[in-house]
Amino acid sequence: MKPFEKCLVCGGDIENKRVEKILRGGGHTVALKVWAEVCLHCGERLYSEEVVKPFEKIRDKLRKQEFTHFTGIGQSFTVKDWPDKAIQTSA
Ligand SMILES: [Zn+2]
Repeated sequence: MKPFEKCLVCGGDIENKRVEKILRGGGHTVALKVWAEVCLHCGERLYSEEVVKPFEKIRDKLRKQEFTHFTGIGQSFTVKDWPDKAIQTSA
């Protein structure tokens, strides 16, 4: 099953790869590995529908603080008062 043949953005060749995806909701973050078609030219990631569908459920659970299916792997931070002005808080 190949949902995509070419990159939808630039028309470049794509390759099926396992990538890290970051999902956010309610100030929380989940990192997970999923399969995606990755453009070898521009780096665009294309996700199949079966991969995308759970993303919204995961974001919804994060917003509702339902962490049943998640496990902690460390703390998340944003910066405050970083001396270099190019670095800004994510909030
Ligand atoms: Zn591309």
